[in-house]
Amino acid sequence: MFKTIKRIINWCGEFKGKLYIGFVFSFFSTWFAALPIMVAAYTVGMLIEEARGGAAFDRKWIGYSFVSIVVLVFLRFLFDYMRAKYQETISYELVTRDRLAIGEALKRVSLGYFGQVNTGNILNSITTGLHTLENMGMRMIDTFIGGYLNFLVIFLCLLYISPKASLIAVAGAGISFLFLLLVSKHSISYAPVASKAGRDLTAATLEYARGLPVVKSFGQGGASMAAMSGACRDSRDICLKIEWGYTPANCMHLLALKAASIALAGCACYLGLAGELSLPMMLMFAFFSFGIFAGLEPISDSAHVLGVMDQLEALKASNYIDQEGRDIPLKRYDIRFSHVDFGYDERTVLKDVSFHIQEKTSTAIVGPSGSGKTTICSLIARFYDVNRGEIRIGGHDLREFTCDSLLKNISMVFQNVYLFHDTVRNNICFGRPDATEADMIEAAKKACCHEFIMALPEGYDTVIGEGGSSLSGGEKQRISIARAILKDAPIVILDEATASIDPENEHLIQNAISSLTRGKTIITIAHRIATIENADQILVVDEGRIVQKGTHQELIKEEGRYRRFVETRERAEGWKIAGR
Ligand code: ADP
Ligand code: MG
Repeated sequence: MFKTIKRIINWCGEFKGKLYIGFVFSFFSTWFAALPIMVAAYTVGMLIEEARGGAAFDRKWIGYSFVSIVVLVFLRFLFDYMRAKYQETISYELVTRDRLAIGEALKRVSLGYFGQVNTGNILNSITTGLHTLENMGMRMIDTFIGGYLNFLVIFLCLLYISPKASLIAVAGAGISFLFLLLVSKHSISYAPVASKAGRDLTAATLEYARGLPVVKSFGQGGASMAAMSGACRDSRDICLKIEWGYTPANCMHLLALKAASIALAGCACYLGLAGELSLPMMLMFAFFSFGIFAGLEPISDSAHVLGVMDQLEALKASNYIDQEGRDIPLKRYDIRFSHVDFGYDERTVLKDVSFHIQEKTSTAIVGPSGSGKTTICSLIARFYDVNRGEIRIGGHDLREFTCDSLLKNISMVFQNVYLFHDTVRNNICFGRPDATEADMIEAAKKACCHEFIMALPEGYDTVIGEGGSSLSGGEKQRISIARAILKDAPIVILDEATASIDPENEHLIQNAISSLTRGKTIITIAHRIATIENADQILVVDEGRIVQKGTHQELIKEEGRYRRFVETRERAEGWKIAGR
């Protein structure tokens, strides 16, 4: 219990000061909520006293008490407002801080991380998880700290008025606290399960939504629903289990408080009848006894909050790939692989790969599918770290760079283009957000996409569907080339950038690419002979090894993979031409 509270307070970090000020306001707000009732009860008591012929009553008192009640109510809301202003804003600030921190952290982990941590996990932490904290975290510590602080003051007052009554109050609060500990124990034991169920649900939903096109085209709605409905049911079962698990203890906690309230009211009556308390005091005391524990009642489930905290800590503890990186300005842009071994998991994908790419030359990588071509490109951009050997750009080992400072030098165009759910403009300017309108349009023209963009309903301000779904493959490809042209990085990596493009688009994209690559260090993965044969160097990859290296002229003379590859390609391209 205390640990949970401590964790939430620590989570507040730089906002702790605001949090504490919030507690003070919260404290006053609770008191000012109770005071009007006490004033009213006291006044009524005095009226009754007068009616019974007891003490004389000054009529002006009614006016005074009315005014003071109004003032007290007003102050109560003022304090409540101030509390909300201090405490509730913190949770929004904190949650934003954490969301950005996670975003930043994800940019800097190895892509291998996403193989181990499901995307659903991350999504769940950033959205639902942090939302839970936003809603429940602050309220939890406010009720806990504020609640017990109030109780302490009330206890001291009671001790002054009647030590017996204070004993009742302590007993009530003590018993309720024991049950709270039980609730908390239950919550802690269920926290990991609860957060796992939440993550699984997000992951299943995400997977379901992603797979919908395939599901529809194969008419397999039932099978794909199964995973999602399973996750929904699990989440429901676990939430119910948590809820049912802590309900008895929670009821006992509330019962202890209510019983103490009744006992206190009884005690007030007893003291009044015994003549130890005046009638107004007795009435005030009796009314008050029902409100005194109000601050302690809402403390209940913390399982979800704890689960989220665990999740967040795990995410923040992710290893940054560039922890020791520096910002290195490069003077030359040659790339050297020396004896590189690499595997995504236990299986080695690249074996003893060594080559050198001179700056401002073009290199084509060819080889069968699955031989490791894309992997080589991913290593250049340091999406992953090598297992053995080293990769140097401009003489610097990649591990010396921060991710940002390395990627500044590299533009990549992939076969599977990902466009953000944003305007065309922002998608093109992604690599260079400060680009002028003229620069952007020039890049779009070079990438042969200006015309079709202008034909879109809102031109450059048209919002592209998620993943680029509202554009054709060729159009998406050309936008991604415009993005790369605008970024104007000295190293350009083209991974099958034209492989899935229809012949009408192909020459447009070829033009776009030649305008992108002028004067740059280029690495191309392609199948077209025309693209490959002009390269300054060709690397032939097979099963993760470089099996041949040279120019087209050199390699074509050798008996080997390359010549077989060219023969097959020529036949395929010949067929294509003959078939037209
Ligand atoms: P290519 O681009 O030449 O077709 P890749 O470099 O994509 O080949 O893949 C090389 C090998 O690495 C393949 O056997 C593939 O299954 C494996 N591989 C590729 N990406 C991953 C990944 N993210 N996780 C695990 N294995 C991968
Ligand atoms: Mg590939």
